[in-house]
Amino acid sequence: MKQTLYLKFLLGYLVFGILGFILVSTVTNYGLRNQIEAVEARNLYTECTEIASQYAKNYYNGSMELTDLHSHLETISHYLNTKIKVIDTSGRVIIDSANSAAYDSNGDIFIDGFDINDFGSKYYMMNRFYDTFTENHLTVFAPITPGYRVRGYVLIHKPIADIYAYSYEMLNVVYLTLLFIFLLAFVILFLFSLLIYRPIRKITSVADAYIDGDFSQKMNIHTHDELGHLAAVFDYMANELNTLEDDQRKFVSNVSHDFRSPLTSIKGYIEAILDGTIPYEMQDKYLNIILFETERLNKLTSSLLELNKFGSHGKTILYMKSFDINYIIRMTALTFEGICSEKHISIELILSGQNLYVTADMAKIQQVIYNLTDNAIKFSYPDSSITIETTEKNDKVFVSVKDSGIGIPNDSLKKIWERFYKTDVSRGKDKRGTGLGLAIVKEIIQAHDENINVISTEGVGTEFIFTLSLSKEL
Ligand code: ATP
Ligand code: MG
Repeated sequence: MKQTLYLKFLLGYLVFGILGFILVSTVTNYGLRNQIEAVEARNLYTECTEIASQYAKNYYNGSMELTDLHSHLETISHYLNTKIKVIDTSGRVIIDSANSAAYDSNGDIFIDGFDINDFGSKYYMMNRFYDTFTENHLTVFAPITPGYRVRGYVLIHKPIADIYAYSYEMLNVVYLTLLFIFLLAFVILFLFSLLIYRPIRKITSVADAYIDGDFSQKMNIHTHDELGHLAAVFDYMANELNTLEDDQRKFVSNVSHDFRSPLTSIKGYIEAILDGTIPYEMQDKYLNIILFETERLNKLTSSLLELNKFGSHGKTILYMKSFDINYIIRMTALTFEGICSEKHISIELILSGQNLYVTADMAKIQQVIYNLTDNAIKFSYPDSSITIETTEKNDKVFVSVKDSGIGIPNDSLKKIWERFYKTDVSRGKDKRGTGLGLAIVKEIIQAHDENINVISTEGVGTEFIFTLSLSKEL
């Protein structure tokens, strides 16, 4: 299928060549011959009338001898490369430039069947002239009219082959021109292949790759014409589809990550309530945590629906409002209580003031604290302590999550923000992790135009600090 366009053009080119050749060898050849015949006949007719009025008439007047006339006609026939005859009205040959016997025999030679009316309305004919020639001749006649009476005729014969030889020469020139046009068309075909066909083939092959889902291929056609434009449109479209697919994949993994932690803690507390690990009088406290987590899931679901509605194109949409960051930290710490008691880890909160209002997307910041605390617990040694601290400075709030765990190796410090990155050390410790937590944290903080930093010493501990904007309304 890919070859068709080129084949079509090649076929068109060949048809053009063959038709051109046929046209020249028929129509042009025919027209050219007719034209040359007519011109030749006219020229010979002029000569013929000249001979009739100048020489033959003088012979009939008696002012010129037959021999003189013969020698004159011989010279002229030589010059014109023709045969000249003088005949009387009955067809008797008086002089034949090609045959001196004509007049010597004094009228023995007749043109059998000669009739001047055979010329019709024309002054020339094309045939073997009453079989006097073995091949066709162009014969032109002019009457000899001394004293206004037709006494005879001057005839000039020229072999048609001579006339056609000239037409062949002309035709050769036409053939040569045709060949030149044909070659020129080939150059145009070559240019077409270079400038149009190749880009089109490139576009179709890359489009085929797009069909197979490979959007990484580029057209690389940078011309300022329609094809260049088409290729650019294709490139743009592929890029859009590519990022769309990436966005979708990212979106699904982020969502799964966000849902996992609340579901895990809800499950843990319900199990603990059911099997009596949490005594009846303490159940209210844990049911509240479950409620808090359920609300969080609820909010997550609503924001997912929102995202679906608008097609955010991978951008994080923020719902900014003023809220108490200290409260969120307290509640988040509570949700980890179960796992903390399992690992004998304590969470120490050093919060600035009772309430500390910041302006941000609450659910998303809650996710940040969640992910950081989750990591701190995950990578802490048992019987250690984690500190979550808030500090107010100018119009910023600094939130720090600090652990005394395994720490992060120096060469991994930059990579921890990458999606799906996990250090080799931690892989052994936590096989469940996807390596998405910090990537989501970074995304959220960047969407808020805030900063996040990490300080870590391997074997000693890690501290994550991020900023938030202090709420101005309160
Ligand atoms: P997930 O969060 O998706 O469950 P994860 O915790 O392994 O998986 P991230 O939260 O993105 O993924 O963390 C990336 C890596 O950074 C971790 O695998 C770990 O190697 C390292 N890391 C993150 N936080 C700490 C920490 N507090 N102490 C030591 N290493 C950490
Ligand atoms: Mg994590």
